[in-house]
Amino acid sequence: MTLNGKTALITGSTSGIGLGIAHGLAAAGANVILNGFGDAQALLADFARHGVKVGHHGANVSHPSEIEAMFAYAAAEFGGVDILVNNAGIQHVAAVEDFPVERWDAIIAINLSAVFHATRLALPGMRQRDWGRIVNIASVHGLVGSTGKAAYVAAKHGVIGLTKVVGLETAKTGVTCNAICPGWVLTPLVQQQIDDRAAKGVDPQQARQDLLAEKQPSLEFVTPEQLGELVLFLCGEGGSQVRGAAWNMDGGWLAQ
Ligand code: NAD
Repeated sequence: MTLNGKTALITGSTSGIGLGIAHGLAAAGANVILNGFGDAQALLADFARHGVKVGHHGANVSHPSEIEAMFAYAAAEFGGVDILVNNAGIQHVAAVEDFPVERWDAIIAINLSAVFHATRLALPGMRQRDWGRIVNIASVHGLVGSTGKAAYVAAKHGVIGLTKVVGLETAKTGVTCNAICPGWVLTPLVQQQIDDRAAKGVDPQQARQDLLAEKQPSLEFVTPEQLGELVLFLCGEGGSQVRGAAWNMDGGWLAQ
């Protein structure tokens, strides 16, 4: 499969799942626009091995005006966005009555509203070219709940609802919109939750095993590379009639 000549914008791609997906897309020939915090220069140098055009935009996706600036950059430097992966996300764990209002607002802004803003900005160009792929990195928490994750679960359920609507509104076009729902993936976002358990006196290795054992029957983490392969499938001809789906890759989490 080749994505030569296509441009992919992956939000939150300086770390974890987004970074893995960006490498997968670049290896398949797509030009990529990275987004997220951290040392972009080192990442850009690393992407040189794929032989594609790579850029980085540091938009904070909790601000719609910065997402607009990122799309203006994509249009000016790359000629638009053919593949949009809405991946940026944050987590906070607390019971509803203790949940900091500021964390609720931030999670809804980054994990849900940013998906709407990027989608509305990507769609006109995709419709014009009659080809596009929008892949929203939701979560198993878009389909089921867990205690302590009110904002995250609400946002991810919202992403899946938005995915269905966009999938329907583009159904007669060459544009598709789908959500991927990972189970546990060992990234900084999850490492934080393991560290929080270890801070309560549990051995770090045991904390990691406990986290898996509670939810993920395979007892293995999903990897960013495996998620990247699913994104590539959705971008290919084989994925062209997958529309409005919420596709879990979760080591069996949702089969229970
Ligand atoms: P991560 O912390 O490794 O990476 C998050 C990325 O988002 C980073 O590049 C960070 O710079 C960027 N980011 C954070 N806030 C941002 C903002 N305001 N503006 C722009 N970029 C911002 O996390 P991850 O585990 O790779 O998570 C990526 C996505 O996958 C998230 O949407 C998360 O909810 C989802 N997810 C993760 C898991 C998991 O187990 N790790 C499971 C299911 C779904």
